[in-house]
Amino acid sequence: MSVLVFLETDKGIIKKTSQEAIAYGAAVASATGGTVTALALGEGDASELAKAGRFGAAKVLHAADPRLNQENSLAYASALVQAVGATGSTVVILAKSGIGDAVAARAAARLKAAIVSGATELPDTAGGFSVKRSIYTGKAFATVEMKAPVKIIAIRKNAVDVQAEEGSAAVEVFNPVFGDNDFKATVTGSEKAGTQLSLTDADIIVSGGRGMKGPENWQPLIDLAQALGAATGCSKPVSDLDWRPHHEHIGQTGIKVAPNLYIACGISGAIQHLAGVNGSKCIVVINKDPEAPFFKAADYGIVGDVFDVLPRLTKAIKEG
Ligand SMILES: Cc1cc2nc3c(=O)[nH]c(=O)nc-3n(C[C@H](O)[C@H](O)[C@H](O)COP(=O)(O)OP(=O)(O)OC[C@H]3O[C@@H](n4cnc5c(N)ncnc54)[C@H](O)[C@@H]3O)c2cc1C
Repeated sequence: MSVLVFLETDKGIIKKTSQEAIAYGAAVASATGGTVTALALGEGDASELAKAGRFGAAKVLHAADPRLNQENSLAYASALVQAVGATGSTVVILAKSGIGDAVAARAAARLKAAIVSGATELPDTAGGFSVKRSIYTGKAFATVEMKAPVKIIAIRKNAVDVQAEEGSAAVEVFNPVFGDNDFKATVTGSEKAGTQLSLTDADIIVSGGRGMKGPENWQPLIDLAQALGAATGCSKPVSDLDWRPHHEHIGQTGIKVAPNLYIACGISGAIQHLAGVNGSKCIVVINKDPEAPFFKAADYGIVGDVFDVLPRLTKAIKEG
């Protein structure tokens, strides 16, 4: 099957989530006999885009129209539909994200495609094409059989391991045709809510709960985050109390994260919080109560006082 991968970039660099989408696409192509083409939208450095080859893409179609520099689900979906036509692709892979989901849905409607969002594993292609996806905020899985000729899959972070190899993709100019409708809503500017790493992209997150006792006590947590190059997050009550900004609130009603390492400091582990972190590869819990529910979901647990454990961890990391 020919596979098309929708790329997301950050300052011209292919995002980690899109590297995973390419690796996922490459595995599908290798299992079904096909090649992977990636689609990059907006101005960017071709030598950076060629790095898609390291993760398994043979070719990158690059639509460098400056109107595509800002996220626009209408125009992006239009470009994706045209790229499916140009490449004859029958499988489209995107990273599950705000823009990924919006583009996938719009493109699926136009292509009458089967769509799955939140895929957690490679598809089973023996005798059909079925994909496992996460449901009920990660508490269960559903297996979906995709029967339409074109299949669109938005994958969850960590659905596949990425191993960069030697290789370079051929970057080709691609000129999709747009109508006025594609730009009927455009982003005119954007600014980050904070200076820190984005929680959805972060590989490591250090997160604090009510056990941190108050906003004035956050420095030991921030010190650990800085030592690890991590983003900071928090539980809902912490942001409700204005101890930390709302964009750090993680959980069922906040941001859902899937870092390689999630360190929970003074968070009890209520199901609503766990719903936002259960895609994490490794969870470390620091809590003074050995009965705290979070320990049941933890890979490693430290029973102790955060104000004792955090400075010691930071010191050990800086020295190590
Ligand atoms: C509809 C709904 C949606 C919700 N959505 C979310 C959500 O998205 N995200 C979310 O987080 N919550 C959410 N909640 C709230 C959730 O149920 C919990 O109340 C909340 O997660 C608890 O936050 P916490 O663990 O920080 O605080 P607490 O439950 O008060 O836990 C504090 C923990 O810190 C430990 N502790 C105290 N002092 C120390 C110390 N010195 N050292 C080490 N450990 C210490 C305690 O043992 C305790 O386990 C939701 C609730 C509802 C009803």
